Amino acid sequence: MSFQAEVSRLLDIVAHSLYSEKEIFLRELVSNASDACDRLRYEALLEPALAEGDGSFRVLLIPDKNAKTLTVADNGIGMNRQELIDNLGTIARSGTAAFLQQLSGDSRKDMSLIGQFGVGFYSAFMVADKVEVLTRKAGESEGWRWSSEGKGAFTIEPAEGVARGAKIILSLKAEDREFLEPARLRRIVKAYSDHIGLPIALVEGGKEETINTASALWTRPKAEITAEQYKEFYHHVAHSFDEPWLVLHAKVEGFLEYAYLLFVPATKPFDLFDPERKTRVKLYVRRVFITEEGTELLPSYLRFLRGIVDSEDLPLNISREMLQKNPTTAKIRQQLSRRVLGELVKKASEEPEEYAKFWGNFGAVLKEGLYEDPEQKESLLSLVRFRTSARDGVVSLDDYVAAMKEGQEAIYTISGDTPEVVERSPQLEGFRARGVEVLFLTDPIDEFWVPATRHYKDKPFRSATRGGADLQKIAASAPPGAEAPQKFQSLVAIFKLALGDAVKDVRGSERLTDSPVCLVADEGDLDIHFERLLREHHQLDKETKRILEVNPRHPLIERLAASVGESGASDALSEYAWLFLDQARIAEGEPLPDPPAFVRRLSHLLELGLGEAS
Ligand code: ADP
Ligand code: MG
Repeated sequence: MSFQAEVSRLLDIVAHSLYSEKEIFLRELVSNASDACDRLRYEALLEPALAEGDGSFRVLLIPDKNAKTLTVADNGIGMNRQELIDNLGTIARSGTAAFLQQLSGDSRKDMSLIGQFGVGFYSAFMVADKVEVLTRKAGESEGWRWSSEGKGAFTIEPAEGVARGAKIILSLKAEDREFLEPARLRRIVKAYSDHIGLPIALVEGGKEETINTASALWTRPKAEITAEQYKEFYHHVAHSFDEPWLVLHAKVEGFLEYAYLLFVPATKPFDLFDPERKTRVKLYVRRVFITEEGTELLPSYLRFLRGIVDSEDLPLNISREMLQKNPTTAKIRQQLSRRVLGELVKKASEEPEEYAKFWGNFGAVLKEGLYEDPEQKESLLSLVRFRTSARDGVVSLDDYVAAMKEGQEAIYTISGDTPEVVERSPQLEGFRARGVEVLFLTDPIDEFWVPATRHYKDKPFRSATRGGADLQKIAASAPPGAEAPQKFQSLVAIFKLALGDAVKDVRGSERLTDSPVCLVADEGDLDIHFERLLREHHQLDKETKRILEVNPRHPLIERLAASVGESGASDALSEYAWLFLDQARIAEGEPLPDPPAFVRRLSHLLELGLGEAS
C-alpha cells in the first residue's frame, strides 16, 4: 500500500534533513507506547477481559547488537489491520494536516517547524532504514506485521504468535548504531520520558531494569520537579513542542479532591479557532487516563490550555456521556477557571511584558469569556488588553481610565479589521486633537462582549464612530475655528439636499481635524464595522444609512463654504457633496455603490484643476 501523499512528504523531509536531535524518535515511540497502555487500562475498566493475562503495563527497550535493531515494545491496546492503515499510513490529526500545508519545501525552515510540532511515529525513519511493527489488538486474535522502508509504501501481512500490544522494531542505519548503547538509551529516557507514569525498562542480557522514575509527574512534590521535566511532560500531553509559557500545578483538597497540571503554550495551537472550540485537557481518575474528549473540565474560552486533571472523586467507569451531566466536573470547571484566571491576573501585574505576549496569542479567545461566563467577569475585565490610538503596546481598562481627560465621561472605542486600518480612521482626529485615547476593537468577538458589558467602573463604552461623541465637553488643545458659521450651515444644507436619501443626515463635525469628511453611525444604529461584518457573514442583507460629518475647519470646506451664494455655486457644490460622500466611504473601507459615477466626477474635477493651472 502506498502512504498518503502528506505522509510521503513528511517522510521525505524527515529522512533528508540533517536533524540535530535525532534522539527524539525515542521520545515519540515511548510516548505512543505509553498512550497505548493508558488506553487499554481505561478500556479494561469496562471490560476486564481485555487486559487479561498481562495487566501490569510497561514499555520495554530492547537493543540487539547482533541484529542491529532497537525494539520498543508495549503491552497496550495494539492495532488491528484497519487501524494500522489509518494510523501508520495517513495523517489523521487535524493539526498535522494544517501543519503540512505550511511546509515551504525549504528543508531547513521545515525542520524547525517540525521541531516545534513533533513528527510522531514517522520520526522512527530518522534513524532506521526499515521499521517493522508487530501488533495484536487487545480482545482480538489476529496479529499483524506492518513493514516499511519509509519510501512511499508499506506492507501489511498477518503474523503468527504476536503478543498483545505493539512492538516497533527499528533496523538502525549504519550511522545511527549509537542507539544500541544502553548508556545512551538511559540518558535519552531520563531526559525526555522520565515523567511517563509507567515503567520503561531496558532489556539487557535477558534482564529488565526500570530506567525511569515511573510515577505520574503530577503526583510528585512540586519541589522535586525541574522545569525541564515539566517541559517534557508538556510536550507529551500537548503533542506540541514549544516551551510552556505558564505551568499550573496543584493538588486541591477539601470538598472535592483533585490534582491538576496545566500549561499555557507559548505559541498558538493550529486549531485554536476551530468552530468546535474543543478544550484539550486530559481527564484522569485516580491516575487512570479516562478521556480527552468532551471532558467539560474547562470552559471553551480556556481551550488554549493543555495538561491533565486527575480526580479522586469521579467513578472510574464514568462514561464520556455521563461526564457532561456530572456535577463534580461542573464544580471542577468552576474552580479551575477561577484559579487559572487568578494566575493570569498575577502574571499580568507582575510581568506585564510577558503577559502581553500571552495576550497576543490568546486574548481573542479569552475575551469570549466576557460574553459567556458572567461569574468570572471581574477578573476577565482586568485581563483584557487593547491597542489604542494614543500609546504603543497594549493597555488595560484601568490604564485607560487613569488616563481619561477632564470632562471625559465615556470609554471610547473604534472597531475595524486590524489596528493598522483603524489607526488611520478620520473619526479619530478630533479625539487625538483633544488628547482623548480610543481603544481599538479589532477582534470579531469585541462586537459581542463590549455591548454586553456596557460599562467598566461606571464608565460607559462608547463608539467613536457613532452618534454625537460628546467631544464638546472635553477641551480641545486648539480651539475649533469655524470662520463663517452661517455659510457653513448653508453648505451643509446644500450637501443634504444633494445627497437626499443616500445619507441619514449631514452635519458639522467635532470629530475631525485633518480630514474634510467622515461617516458615522446614528446613535442606536449598528456600528459601521459590525454591520459590514454581519453582511460578510450573510447575517444581514440591508444597509443602514449613515451620517456624513463635515469638518468646518478644513481648508477645502472653508473655501467651499465661502463660495456659497456665488452664481452657479450650488450645482458645483452638489457634485462635491457626492465626491465627499464617496471619499468618506473609501476611508471607511465601504464599497462604492456607483464607481463609474465617482470616476466621472473625479476626472471632471481634475480637468477643471488642470484648466485653471494652465
Ligand atoms: P500521535 O501519537 O500524535 O497520535 P503518532 O504519529 O505518534 O501520532 O501516532 C499515530 C497513531 O498511531 C497514534 O495516534 C496511535 O493511534 C497509533 N499508534 C502509534 N504507536 C502505537 C502503539 N505503540 N500502540 C498502539 N497504537 C499506536
Ligand atoms: Mg505520538
